[in-house]
Formats: sequence, structure tokens, C-alpha cells
Amino acid sequence: MKASKKTIHRRKRELSCDGCSDCCRYVAIEVDRPTTKRDYSDYFWHLMHENVALYIGHDRTWNLEFVARCTRLNDRGQCSDYENRPLICRDYSLDTCTTHSKGAYYTHKFHTPEELKAYLKARKINFEFKRNKS
Ligand code: SF4
Ligand code: SF4
Repeated sequence: MKASKKTIHRRKRELSCDGCSDCCRYVAIEVDRPTTKRDYSDYFWHLMHENVALYIGHDRTWNLEFVARCTRLNDRGQCSDYENRPLICRDYSLDTCTTHSKGAYYTHKFHTPEELKAYLKARKINFEFKRNKS
């Protein structure tokens, strides 16, 4: 998210973006926690699509994640419009970013409907629709 060679010192650790551009290659949005069979069905549908994931953050929020490269990311893996980057890019913390947290930004992550169904079944959550006989 930060320009290459930008280095931040925190808690005697050195965190750097050098060689990484992971956070410029996806977008994520917080979504409602599913509570109905219709909600579950809708998230199954999202997960039927390529490059879409659903995750539960440590703050218990549910989030959809789409793999999509930012158009401002140049071929050297740097932001080509660093001075004008959006606030969300400026606010992003190296402490909790996808790379430095090593995936610890979520408690559960689902890439397919089957993974989400397994999670729901383990919690005895009934997500099945009764089909009408026709
Ligand atoms: S994921 Fe972390 S290390 Fe990688 S570019 Fe973004 S802020 Fe930097
Ligand atoms: S605007 Fe720049 S810092 Fe923000 S996601 Fe795009 S390439 Fe990354």
C-alpha cells in the first residue's frame, strides 16, 4: 500500500512494504452477518464466483473480499499515484496488514460454498431450503 522503500519502525521491529504490493491487489467490504437462509444462500452465490472470498474478522465482522488489482499499481509493484492515494490506503496499518499479520486478520475465511457450509454445519446452523415439489 505504501511506496516502495518506505520503512516504518515500530516496537523495535522494522516493518516494510519493500517487495510487497498485496494490499493493492484486492478490495474488501464489510457485509451484514448472515442470519437467515436467504442470507446464507446469497453468500453461497458470492462464493460460487472466481476470486471472491468471505471472511470473519477478529472484530466478528463479516467481509467480502474480491481479488482485483488496483489500476494505480505499476509494473514495479509501486503506487503510481502515491500523492493522491485514497484515505483507505493512507490509513492502512503495516502492523495488521495482510502480509505482516500472516493471515491473522481473520478468524475464518471461505473460498467456496462448501467451506462455508462446513462451518455452518459444525455450528448446527440450518441453512437448507425446503424445495417445493412441482
Ligand atoms: S500488504 Fe502490508 S507490506 Fe504489503 S504492501 Fe500492503 S501494507 Fe505493505
Ligand atoms: S491507490 Fe496506490 S496505494 Fe492505494 S491500492 Fe492503489 S496502488 Fe495501492
